[in-house]
Amino acid sequence: MTSPKYHSFDKSEKLKNVSYDIRGGVSAEAERMELDGHSILKLNTGNPAVFGFEAPDVIMRDMIASLPTSQGYSTSKGIISARRAIVTRYELEDFPAFDVDDIYLGNGVSELISMTTQALLNEGDEILIPMPDYPLWTAATTLAGGTAVHYLCDEENEWNPSIEDIKAKVSEKTKAIVVINPNNPTGAVYSCEVLQQIVDVAREHNLLILADEIYDRILYDGAKHISIASLAPDLLTFTFNGLSKAYRVAGYRAGWMVITGPRERARGLIDGLDLLAGTRLCPNVPAQHAIQVALGGHQSIYELTGAEGRLLKQRNVAYEKLNSIPGVSVTKAMGAMYCFPRLDPEVYEIHDDAQLMMDILKSQKILLVQGTGFNWPAPDHFRVVTLPWASQLSNAIERLGNFLASYRQ
Ligand code: PLP
Repeated sequence: MTSPKYHSFDKSEKLKNVSYDIRGGVSAEAERMELDGHSILKLNTGNPAVFGFEAPDVIMRDMIASLPTSQGYSTSKGIISARRAIVTRYELEDFPAFDVDDIYLGNGVSELISMTTQALLNEGDEILIPMPDYPLWTAATTLAGGTAVHYLCDEENEWNPSIEDIKAKVSEKTKAIVVINPNNPTGAVYSCEVLQQIVDVAREHNLLILADEIYDRILYDGAKHISIASLAPDLLTFTFNGLSKAYRVAGYRAGWMVITGPRERARGLIDGLDLLAGTRLCPNVPAQHAIQVALGGHQSIYELTGAEGRLLKQRNVAYEKLNSIPGVSVTKAMGAMYCFPRLDPEVYEIHDDAQLMMDILKSQKILLVQGTGFNWPAPDHFRVVTLPWASQLSNAIERLGNFLASYRQ
């Protein structure tokens, strides 16, 4: 009998240029080491719960109470009570008017980013994405057949977007600009002037604004977050947010996207979004029931970011300790839960930053993500998640400093 011809299975061509190093090869090695019994300090994802950030009780209680009535699919855009709570939340801010129909709930912001890029992009269409970025934006754009064009966020200018670079990179094919504010991975919070300049470019070139504001309530030292939609009521803007960070329930997978501006100029795109929302049936229903209670009343995140707050203390420790390592410098994060230190190339000759992360993992049992994983063009940065308790973070950075001594020239 002749043996049947087996062919091997490769990933699709579509995935060939898609990467997501936050959960890439170094993180896979960390998981393997854990199976071998090693204890790894995982600073690769912004996952608050694993560092003892408990969700507010009321959120959990409402979600549990909703379980018996959450067995069926919901409407594809999400339950009305949650969408109404989102309208009310933004009504209290200086935000352009919108209604429940302008909101899509999702299994986290992640799903809504994928839906948006799939609905928006044709082959070769371009999206302006910050550099460094939160790499899902680049991955989702590439997967959707679009081209990610990265604009510089300037470390010399507190990681603010370079308006010159944005202007230089707009082309006939540019459809949208992504603004991540407060920023992952840099921790920058943009001023009104900077946001206004981005809006001016978007207005001039008729760009859709994609505003990822998932860290909008994680702010330090009195920093103020301004939603870019509030400066652009005349421009089509999608604002993304959710419960993963400020409400510490990343695992529940609850996020939303709000459309503001001239919807009549986006009928086709909105049809596409409705189609994709329908084909994913609906977001996780119990988690949708957590949204209303999360958004109303006491906002416990402000205790964590305020003067005596855990998140603030950890931000301070990361800033001070990292800057005390010879050849390492870091800008103070004004928001979010990350910082993006620089390794001075005169002091550290790094050619492969993923290999450096692998060496740190193996030697110090600390999992970090290389700067190139955030589409940073040179192997001279890495990201630190500032979620561990201050003492643990301080100890980890000290160990990192000792390890880096062996790399110094
Ligand atoms: N956007 C940014 C900037 C993020 O940092 C993250 C998660 O780290 C997400 C979106 C994804 O969030 P979600 O848990 O809502 O999918």
